[in-house]
Amino acid sequence: MKGNLTQETLELIYSRNCNICGNVGYKIKKIPPDETYLSGREVAVECECRELLGLYSKSGVEIRYQNCCFDNYVIDENNKGAIELIKNFVTKYPDVNKSILINGPVGTGKTWSVSTLVNEFIWNHKKQTKIINVPILLDKIRGGINNKQQYKEVNEEITELLNCELLVLDDLGAERMLDDAKGDWIRERIYILLEDRWSKQRYLAITTNCTGEQISEKYGQRITDRIMGLCSGESLLGESKR
Ligand SMILES: [Zn+2]
Repeated sequence: MKGNLTQETLELIYSRNCNICGNVGYKIKKIPPDETYLSGREVAVECECRELLGLYSKSGVEIRYQNCCFDNYVIDENNKGAIELIKNFVTKYPDVNKSILINGPVGTGKTWSVSTLVNEFIWNHKKQTKIINVPILLDKIRGGINNKQQYKEVNEEITELLNCELLVLDDLGAERMLDDAKGDWIRERIYILLEDRWSKQRYLAITTNCTGEQISEKYGQRITDRIMGLCSGESLLGESKR
C-alpha cells in the first residue's frame, strides 16, 4: 500500500498509458537559464502521472471501489443512462454546465457509478475530486459540536471538500432527518455545501435513494431548487445487486 491505495489500484494506475512519459514515471525537463547551477541542463523530474497518486489517495474512494473505471464498468439497461451522463461529463469537462444527480434504490450501484466518476475525473483532468458519504459527514459534524479536537478535524475536512474541483455527495437523504431544530441544522449544512458549489461555479455529483418529491419533503423547496438548478439527473433502476 502507498497511502491508502491498494497494490491493485497502483497497478491499475500504472497500467494506464501516460502519453507524457510512456509510463516511465519521469520526464525530461530543461532548467531555464540563470535559475540554478543546473541552468540550461536537462534533468529528469517526476512525471505528472505520478502526482495522480496523491490525488487518488485523498479522494475518499473506498478500497472496494478504487479499481472502478470505464473499462471495467458493466453497462446494462438499468445503468446505461447514468453511466452515459458520467462519461459525457468527464469527456466534455470543463465545457459542461450541469452537475450530476443519480438516483435509484439501495443496491443498484450508485456508489459504484460515482466512484468510477471520481477515478476517471482524476485520471483525465488531474484535479482533486472527493467523495463523501453524507450521513457519515453529518455525524462527524455533529460530533464536533462538543469536542474541540473533532471540531478541528471536521473543519479541516470541510475545507478540503469546499476546495476540491468536483465534490461527490454520496447517499444524500439517507441521514435521519428530524422535524425540529436538528433537522433545520442538517438542512443548513447541506445548503451551505450546495451554495458554495454554486457561487464558485464548481461541480458536484449527488447520489440519493430519494425521488425529487422526497427530496423536497425532506429538505424543503430551497434545497430542492438548488439541486435541480445545479444538476442533470439520471436514474439507476433494477434489483439490488447486494
Ligand atoms: Zn507520466
